[in-house]
Amino acid sequence: LSTTDRIEPQKISVCVRKRPLNKQEIIKKEIDVVSVPGKGVLLVHEPKHKVDLTKYLENQVFHFDYSFDETTTNDLVYKFTAKPLVQSVFEGGMATCFAYGQTGSGKTHTMGGDFIGKQQNSTKGIYAFAAQDVFTYLNHRRYANLELSAYVSFFEIYNGKVYDLLNKKAKLRVMEDDRQQVQVVGLEEVYVSTAEEVIKMIQMGSACRTSGQTSANANSSRSHAVLQIVLRRNDRATTLHGKFSLVDLAGNERGTDVSSNDRSTLVETAEINRSLLALKECIRSLGMNSDHIPFRMSTLTKVLRDSFIGEKSRICMESVVDSSVYDAMAQVAELEEKAYVEL
Ligand code: ADP
Ligand code: MG
Repeated sequence: LSTTDRIEPQKISVCVRKRPLNKQEIIKKEIDVVSVPGKGVLLVHEPKHKVDLTKYLENQVFHFDYSFDETTTNDLVYKFTAKPLVQSVFEGGMATCFAYGQTGSGKTHTMGGDFIGKQQNSTKGIYAFAAQDVFTYLNHRRYANLELSAYVSFFEIYNGKVYDLLNKKAKLRVMEDDRQQVQVVGLEEVYVSTAEEVIKMIQMGSACRTSGQTSANANSSRSHAVLQIVLRRNDRATTLHGKFSLVDLAGNERGTDVSSNDRSTLVETAEINRSLLALKECIRSLGMNSDHIPFRMSTLTKVLRDSFIGEKSRICMESVVDSSVYDAMAQVAELEEKAYVEL
């Protein structure tokens, strides 16, 4: 909690993290076409052929608030992305951190680490680091007089519907009252007093998320998972003080391999694209200080509405990319959109 530790959070920050080539990619001798040559810079070297068929690399440069290369660890990514937001939540703000990218590029690794469902001593992710910091701050004398308590909620949004991961995947309704306050009716909010308890909730919820599915990864990549750490005052009404939402978004697939004749898959894909587009539109409107923010475009943006508005709201978009040549074109297209939300 020293002053040197503090990075002033921006209203909206956009970062990018490159994941290393995995074993299979190395075996297949895939070419690494993504590099991080400097702070906040990402370079994509796209192999091309000239008219005379000689090969060359076309370089495309993208700029972000921060860019992390394949050697970067989760704790360093945390330090520059979600950590600055913890302070805002204690100062009575709303903060949201998103992991955004194609399936397999490292969203769950970044958010959950290899911590979920495994040994406690394996790699931690942003969830665990954030939980630890929340309790460090809660117990710090600077915030002790606020008399705050922490609660967690964990839900997933699949095909536009909300399911409570802390309550047997109960399907919940999203309601908007006449003051435009959006509520997820009946969402469990569990009181927690240690970071370990938060981790336990996440493990429980993640197990609930994948149960009954034939392929865990296929399932999780089709839904958004939203973990919320909520701070409430210890008054009688347990008044909301601040809220931290950590979102592992559904994969933003664009490759040709998503083509499917299966109707339910097509519906899913359409819904994912719609919600990611809604998210980008909302962030863009917020960045432009627009009066009209299209929250109603999707369930995801509806339920995050209260976290997006207000003087003290902070957003961090953490996009993850892999390094393979096969996906590079799709990623370039994605990054162009990233550069477009980066205002
Ligand atoms: P996503 O959630 O985006 O679909 P995952 O987080 O599940 O992707 O990552 C896919 C695989 O790559 C996992 O086995 C994960 O452990 C590994 N991985 C992802 N990012 C990294 C990284 N930065 N360093 C090492 N391994 C990684
Ligand atoms: Mg995942």
